[in-house]
Amino acid sequence: MPTYVRTDKCDGCKGQDKAACMYICPHDLMKLDKDGSETGHPMKAWNQEPEQCWECYSCVKICPQNAIECRHYADVVPLGGSVQPLRGTDSIMWTIRFRNGNIKRFKFPIRTTPEGSIKPYEGKPKAEMSDIEKHDTLFTKATHKCDMSQFVSS
Ligand code: SF4
Ligand code: SF4
Repeated sequence: MPTYVRTDKCDGCKGQDKAACMYICPHDLMKLDKDGSETGHPMKAWNQEPEQCWECYSCVKICPQNAIECRHYADVVPLGGSVQPLRGTDSIMWTIRFRNGNIKRFKFPIRTTPEGSIKPYEGKPKAEMSDIEKHDTLFTKATHKCDMSQFVSS
């Protein structure tokens, strides 16, 4: 179920150093062909190694142009059908296209707080980077001794 880029929709994330799909792919598969020398499509991204795709849908969800789609397995999504997400700031909408032409849409909330409002370090002590060199800061000594006799039957 690897992904592919629709070149008619991709805008190369407007030529930024790192396109959104490149940033999010956990397997580093997405690549932007800035000058078109690799694919013949300048300023379009592509999935370099579809066989290695984790099928995680991360690139599909993050693409601001909705330009990435998935080739589905025929036993899950019959030929001609599609499953496409469209992510907003507070919800995601899935569009299911059946091969007989029927379309169903499902919209789900994806967060309960405004985007950017979470303060993950609030109330926590400031990190002291020099501590990273100190062994005792990172590791605590084991205080519990394992009694092996409990694992040996008599
Ligand atoms: S995130 Fe979308 S628009 Fe941006 S480069 Fe990738 S496929 Fe193109
Ligand atoms: S589906 Fe996941 S693994 Fe595959 S190209 Fe997209 S982000 Fe990478």
